[in-house]
Amino acid sequence: MAYLDTLGRPLRNLRISVTDRCNLRCQYCMPEEEYVWLPREDLLHFEEISQLADVFVELGVDKVRLTGGEPLLRRDLPRLVRLLAAKPGIRDLAMTTNGVLLSEQAQALYEAGLHRVTVSLDTLRPERFKQLTRRDTHARVLEGIEAVGRAGFKGLKLDSVVMRGTNDDELVDLIEYGKRVGAEVRFIEYMDVGGATLWSLDAVLSRTAILERLERHYGPIEPVVEESTAPADRFALSDGILFGIISSTTAPFCRSCDRSRLTADGMWYLCLYAKQGTDLRGPFRRGASKEELKSLIIPTWQQRAERGAEQRLAMANRAPLVQIGELKKDPHLEMHTRGG
Ligand code: SAM
Ligand code: SF4
Repeated sequence: MAYLDTLGRPLRNLRISVTDRCNLRCQYCMPEEEYVWLPREDLLHFEEISQLADVFVELGVDKVRLTGGEPLLRRDLPRLVRLLAAKPGIRDLAMTTNGVLLSEQAQALYEAGLHRVTVSLDTLRPERFKQLTRRDTHARVLEGIEAVGRAGFKGLKLDSVVMRGTNDDELVDLIEYGKRVGAEVRFIEYMDVGGATLWSLDAVLSRTAILERLERHYGPIEPVVEESTAPADRFALSDGILFGIISSTTAPFCRSCDRSRLTADGMWYLCLYAKQGTDLRGPFRRGASKEELKSLIIPTWQQRAERGAEQRLAMANRAPLVQIGELKKDPHLEMHTRGG
């Protein structure tokens, strides 16, 4: 039985953040010098994540994505993958990573049963990568991307956040790189999520502008008509190459959003923009049964009315979602805690 929220959206898609820590400092996600981290003792153990995942799967979740922070910083991640991959209810088990540690781990992740990998790649230029992330590990990301195919994975995706004046001159280069490595590129509009304290509307390159620029180079681009709840709208170039655009900022997809998010310390969020979440770690560690956890999750989902990105779009003077002072008081508001 599918559980539907107030807009008829099913509980199907769970993002599990396995750590709030990261080995990069992307300007659009972690631009500050200092962060408040989740207390280590609060982090769910793999067995706890697996048991909570069982509850969600019994309620209809069949797509799970591991994310973070940087998921590959979590020690022995393939062990968690193995626990999740053994659940027949999970049809799609994916991971989003910045790729820095991927070349070392791709094979073990594949063997553990991970289905798909998405690597975030915003630039092909090492110097620009350094400016964007404050780290000098661009070559390792490219090595990580190459390791994905070698390990046996199919369906590699490359996600690029496009920022006007920062990397918007690389749209064609990124598509061409995707062709070379057999990956589908998805351009993500810069979002005013928690953590993006430097966000401004001027820095957003809209879906329309992205398409215009690509058409100038490639000629006419056709939208791909498909039934999907995926966040990306897909398009085809005249040579058949596909790419996607995730236009959460200028054309949000809230009406079909079936995603919810479990943080590394067991808070459950119904929207990337939600200020409040539901604590599942507390009841779980106090010994709540599966049925008790379900009776917490089901009504929460059934009352879900979140349309965060649409509400942000309707705002007149749009500015960063949360100010740094508020973020320091509640690290759960950060994108790197919630997972992308
Ligand atoms: N560390 C991993 C990575 O970078 O792929 C996983 C976590 S990261 C929060 C997940 C995704 O969120 C990445 O693709 C990242 O580019 C995206 N992201 C972070 N901040 C964003 C923002 N302000 N706007 C749009 N996408 C953002
Ligand atoms: Fe960048 Fe991902 Fe780390 Fe955020 S969590 S700083 S997007 S690598």
